[in-house]
Amino acid sequence: MSSRKTAIVTGSNSGIGLATAEALAGSGCNVVLNSFTDNEADHKLAADLAKKHSVECAYVKADMAKPAECRDLVAQAAKRFGSVDILVNNAGIQHVSPVESFPTEKWDAIIAINLSSAFHTTAVAVPLMKKAGWGRIVNIASAHGLRASPNKSAYVAAKHGIVGLTKTVALETAGSGVTSNAVCPGFVHTPLVEIQIEDRMKEHPGMDRDAVVRDIILEKQPSKQFATVEQIAGAVLYLCSDAAAQVTGTTISVDGGWTAA
Ligand code: NAD
Repeated sequence: MSSRKTAIVTGSNSGIGLATAEALAGSGCNVVLNSFTDNEADHKLAADLAKKHSVECAYVKADMAKPAECRDLVAQAAKRFGSVDILVNNAGIQHVSPVESFPTEKWDAIIAINLSSAFHTTAVAVPLMKKAGWGRIVNIASAHGLRASPNKSAYVAAKHGIVGLTKTVALETAGSGVTSNAVCPGFVHTPLVEIQIEDRMKEHPGMDRDAVVRDIILEKQPSKQFATVEQIAGAVLYLCSDAAAQVTGTTISVDGGWTAA
């Protein structure tokens, strides 16, 4: 990326979001980090990133389950840095349960955080990007935005939804210098997946960790290897580059071959 841009990464104090924030700062962007926690450690992450990459970084607390806070996150970033050039909608949670016993509050939280938050941030960011004649919206969807798995009704619904939102925003912004795309990771070893590994180990006490990872977690990932957070961040960086100016309304899978089948 040539000139200094401002990037917002939602849910960026951990995992894919943090790696993406780091990659964007490394490419010379000012970065707004976000989570709902507002710990000392969150502010330190922003300060460390700024120092390491000689850019400006800010931590802004916003709960992505709350529409007004999603919208305010973008407004605050614009106020502080004067523009919002890159928006990475990354915040996400998971809950695994059959549909008949899926708790309603978990369904509501997953739809709010994994899908509706991106609608709210995008709605505020698009006019700013259109006015500037340049913008990049990158939604972190999932292989579950393209394929289903049992017991993940809310997650699969939200991720299919965000792929639909991605395409719609691409059509609405086509020709304006703004692009809208989604990255669809397969399994990436982050805290979100560590919880699933531990739960599956409890369900299969006879299997060791390696077998649970290979045969259960990575069952659908033909490479039998996790993608790394840096590889996901690399796909985001590509979509934010000038080389991707005509890439819009599409998905990039980083899933070890999962969706080839
Ligand atoms: P993670 O648990 O490491 O990170 C999730 C991030 O979201 C954290 O920074 C957390 O603070 C933030 N977050 C959660 N609830 C929030 C809220 N209410 N408000 C603001 N921030 C909130 O998990 P991850 O694996 O890095 O997941 C990041 C994204 O990647 C998610 O959208 C997830 O669905 C997606 N994804 C992950 C995988 C994987 O295998 N790890 C695969 C496909 C897609």
